[in-house]
Amino acid sequence: MDVGFIGLGNMGFGIARSLLRAGHTVTVWNRTAAKAEPLGADGATIASTPGEAAKAGIVMSMLADDHAVAEVVFGEGGILAGAPEALHVSMSTISVALAKRMADAHAEAGSALVSAPVFGRPAAAESAKLFVVAAGEGSHLDRAAPLFDAVGQKSFIVGDAPYEANLVKLAGNFMIAGTTEMLAEAMALGEKGGVARAKLLEVLAGTLFGSPIVQNYGGYIRDEAYLPAGFAAPLGLKDLRLVGEAAEELRVPLPLLGIARDHLLETIAIDGEEIDWSALAKSVFRGAGLK
Ligand code: NAP
Repeated sequence: MDVGFIGLGNMGFGIARSLLRAGHTVTVWNRTAAKAEPLGADGATIASTPGEAAKAGIVMSMLADDHAVAEVVFGEGGILAGAPEALHVSMSTISVALAKRMADAHAEAGSALVSAPVFGRPAAAESAKLFVVAAGEGSHLDRAAPLFDAVGQKSFIVGDAPYEANLVKLAGNFMIAGTTEMLAEAMALGEKGGVARAKLLEVLAGTLFGSPIVQNYGGYIRDEAYLPAGFAAPLGLKDLRLVGEAAEELRVPLPLLGIARDHLLETIAIDGEEIDWSALAKSVFRGAGLK
């Protein structure tokens, strides 16, 4: 089918490629135009504005944060200005508040929003192995389903209000940060007592804790594989801020959130903006007097 795709960063580039590989006709737009060129060589049409990409009638977006998404939707040359009738499938990790605002604005323009944030890192985006978490009205979800099949290994429908998918995604990222914190603390304990990180991870992941997050994030910590970032620490910090905003709005205390967030902030302050968010483990190790 004809689809527009906006945002060709670490995640979006691979997703757009998966759409092309699945045989869809894709029109792409990215703020930094040069990043679109390789996709042009793969058969994508390159649009000059987000609104032009949305003229395909259905448009997916995968952008950094609320600010980027709001600019692409509401800004000059944006989706609402260029193609108000287009169904917008928003895949970015954004706030519940922005998802609600966009749903209202798209409905007012005679169109609709589907929220479809994803679990999975850039390698999963490139190999069409993402998990898609979608919410929106049934007919709109049906329309987007072939696109989800093209980019993911499994889709979950969580409700008919788009923001519900964003809330699930934020809850998941809270769990990833909390699990990273816990893994780092356990590994620091082992290492200071003379048990290598690799051995500790082998036992824990091979017995009661064999989840993809423990395996993968435990592997990053074991190997200190924090650069280049698959998910940059400042984006992770943004997600934890959005978790906190949702929790405050809903009056849900999340004490664990503060611990992981402060360790991530410390890592960014000391190790810089380019590092992966799993490097919050470095702050835990430093706190134990380890490297
Ligand atoms: P990224 O590599 O930093 O890419 C960000 C994209 O947003 C780029 O295309 C960038 O354009 C664009 N952008 C930023 N500010 C903009 C603005 N003001 N106007 C227009 N475009 C703007 O980020 P990513 O890792 O692909 O992440 C994208 C989204 O997926 C985020 O919401 C993230 O939380 C979520 N996510 C990431 C992962 C992961 O492991 N990386 C996993 C799941 C979900 P330029 O190329 O011009 O900079």
